[in-house]
Amino acid sequence: MLGKLTRWLRILGLDVKYSNELDDAELIANAKEDTRILLTKDLNLYRQAIAKNVDAFYLEGRTRTEKLANIAKKFKIQLNVDMTRSRCPKCNQEVEPIAKQKVRGRVKESTFKYYNEFWKCPKCSQIYWQGAHWERIRSTLEATKEKIGRKNKG
Ligand SMILES: [Zn+2]
Repeated sequence: MLGKLTRWLRILGLDVKYSNELDDAELIANAKEDTRILLTKDLNLYRQAIAKNVDAFYLEGRTRTEKLANIAKKFKIQLNVDMTRSRCPKCNQEVEPIAKQKVRGRVKESTFKYYNEFWKCPKCSQIYWQGAHWERIRSTLEATKEKIGRKNKG
């Protein structure tokens, strides 16, 4: 359920595990073992976790910005992308800068020509750059900040 949100949180630099294959008991056991906070939209799962002394956060919000705003407020997350902290949206590994010359042939020629900064995930080898989709990421983060700002004013 929270797969998309997971990718957002990783880009923002949060260490997030995600699974849609585990049942409630397994999710709670894993969170306890890793001392992670269980993030869920499932009120029943949230209540079970709390009953078992697992730190949990019940995530409300209909839209992506509402959900992000609620998480950012709760965990005091900076809504700016800092690539030195960013994690691979696919596998949660911290990304590393990679020299432009090394990505030649691994990204489209137009991408190679147009962009100078690239990052690589050491685990899955995915190459990242702040491409056209980046504007959408920024505007979503700005919208989220605005939402938080409005609520804080009352
Ligand atoms: Zn990766």
